[in-house]
Amino acid sequence: MNEVETAVASDGRAVSERATPSGVLLEACSLRKIYGAGPNSITVLDGIDLSVGQGEMIAIVGPSGSGKSTLLHLLAALDTPTSGTVYFSAKALAAQPSDSLAEFRNRRIGFVWQRHHLLPDFTAAENVAMPLLMRHTSYNEALRKADESLAEVGLASRARQRAAQLSGGEQQRVAIARALVTKPAVLLADEPTGDLDEHNAVAIMDLIERLHQAHLLTSILATHNPVLAKRCGRVLRLEHGLLRPDADYQQAPSPVTEGEKS
Ligand code: ADP
Repeated sequence: MNEVETAVASDGRAVSERATPSGVLLEACSLRKIYGAGPNSITVLDGIDLSVGQGEMIAIVGPSGSGKSTLLHLLAALDTPTSGTVYFSAKALAAQPSDSLAEFRNRRIGFVWQRHHLLPDFTAAENVAMPLLMRHTSYNEALRKADESLAEVGLASRARQRAAQLSGGEQQRVAIARALVTKPAVLLADEPTGDLDEHNAVAIMDLIERLHQAHLLTSILATHNPVLAKRCGRVLRLEHGLLRPDADYQQAPSPVTEGEKS
């Protein structure tokens, strides 16, 4: 592990920075998450260390309830750890003011939720446009970009359909288009094929893989799906609060650990 250094931001606040190895985009150090307090508390994450290289595609596998969603939420700054630190581009998320964190969530992270969380009465395009509208992009511009994003996931012709009228597979495509409309650096997907039949699951896997490459993403997928996991460069198993390389999957070398990116 590298040493944590402290720098001073322009407003004079101390910002924790970390001398990360080149090519590392996202890091978690000694991450713990305990829900509740006292005798009823549960320790879900018990000291997670994770270093994610730019361009990597990682699968997090593990039994239901092992903490995969919790980990993704901490990496996305949607929740805060009980202790430990997440670094993005060598900067500690915990040291960022709330407006920077909101910007981090909106601009750097694309999140695909387990139950896609679409607004059923809004059109596919309006759902995809939401993250842009939240950052005050004009409605017309947001819709134009949403249409582009929907075209990329093969749903140009469904852009004006209400989300509730779409099939499960189409809804998941809309959720992916929404995650990527802001052109994030990182894609975090929580069981992206969880609710789909095999045919749709394969199509969504193909799509994620294609977008990962086309958008030069760094992707972390929580999944129960062994076929999806096998298509990732690295498979990590979360169990008993700890993250370890999964022995059941053949490990392919990651693009970054080979050192060709800086
Ligand atoms: P997974 O995604 O692997 O199924 P989760 O991260 O959803 O696991 O949940 C891990 C454990 O943490 C579960 O026992 C779950 O009940 C518990 N948990 C998740 N969120 C909360 C919360 N907000 N409060 C209390 N317990 C929670």
